[in-house]
Amino acid sequence: MSPRRKSRAVSAQHAMTSAEAMIDMHGVVKRFKNVAGEFTVLKDINLTIKRGEFVSIVGKSGSGKSTLLNMITGIDHPTEGKVVIDGADIYTGVTESQRSKWRGRNLGIVFQFFQLLPMLTLLENAMLPMDYADMYGFDERPARAMEMLELVGLEEFANKLPLLVSTGQQQLAAIARALACDPPLLVADEPTGNLDTKSASTIIDLFEELAHRGKTVVMVTHDPSLASRATRNIIIADGELINETIAKSLPWLRHRHMMEFTKLAETRIYPPKATIISREDPIENFFMIQKGEVEVVLYDRKKDETVISRLQPGEFFGEMELLRGGKALANVRAGASEAVETLTIKREDFKRVMDISPITADAVGKIVQQRLEARRAIDSRTGGFLARLRKKRSV
Ligand code: ADP
Ligand code: MG
Repeated sequence: MSPRRKSRAVSAQHAMTSAEAMIDMHGVVKRFKNVAGEFTVLKDINLTIKRGEFVSIVGKSGSGKSTLLNMITGIDHPTEGKVVIDGADIYTGVTESQRSKWRGRNLGIVFQFFQLLPMLTLLENAMLPMDYADMYGFDERPARAMEMLELVGLEEFANKLPLLVSTGQQQLAAIARALACDPPLLVADEPTGNLDTKSASTIIDLFEELAHRGKTVVMVTHDPSLASRATRNIIIADGELINETIAKSLPWLRHRHMMEFTKLAETRIYPPKATIISREDPIENFFMIQKGEVEVVLYDRKKDETVISRLQPGEFFGEMELLRGGKALANVRAGASEAVETLTIKREDFKRVMDISPITADAVGKIVQQRLEARRAIDSRTGGFLARLRKKRSV
């Protein structure tokens, strides 16, 4: 069955109904002008983030992370495109002052350098957003601020000035302040950039907890070990988003090569049970699973089938044949319960990038080795089906 093909260039995200989306960015472009002329910092960003997701955004310095966050918070505005936050288009027909008011009531923002007012206690700092946004009754505000300080574990320090607590505690207080108006969305730009490892980890624990309670958390970070604790990881390179399936499937690739694959990849959709690769067919593509589950199937002499593995989104197949040359070693089909969406890279493109990416080639090679070993183990149980293969490839 021939797959349905979508556009050649794949967008990093999938369409989603606005009801479950907290952030929806469409075709967002940001250009800055300076004496040298105009330059584009964000190039056609399409991004959907669901309610309750904890998302990390990583990318090299200058890749556009802060600019991207500023499009979400309304601190700056896009040159082109549309940004919808929690169902509201925050730019079309909205004045600067309306946006500022909206921000105060709907967003919690956390910065690298806490930005607490030094002359106010932690409790007074945590009360400020409620005063600005005029939310909660005047008499309720101290109790609410205290509740937020308790949430971040700072109740004992409520009456201290910021400089009398540690930097980690200052950042926790800044988060308590960001939560004061109970915003559904928390946006943090390198919130741990100025903290020691232990304090950084405490901040991430807190973000995890907030996401569990239903808040949406979007965090820019430089630190891969912190980024990996988010439930979803987005990479930005030169103002463009890398396809998340590619980043997940081939995490060892340089961002430059991930971006190259993002532009080259084709999307294919297979209905449940459809054959994706038939054994003995020549393999022309490297496949990454974007959605659904695939089954890798071998048949013995009596045509009885064995499902030798099931692969999930973020896993790949076809690499053995491409790297070793030749025909398919097994049948691969879409799982029975749902359609499968794959991303494919043509053989020449895959090989070219592998040739200049030794770390990835090595990692993929190890996976090939493991898969061959797993197959051999199954082979010896199912009657020597792979004996031929072993001989042919002398491995
Ligand atoms: P990151 O946060 O990933 O380090 P930024 O989003 O801050 O990157 O910046 C991306 C690029 O946009 C950089 O080249 C930066 O110099 C440029 N840039 C950011 N803000 C402005 C601005 N207000 N005016 C002109 N150029 C800017
Ligand atoms: Mg930045």
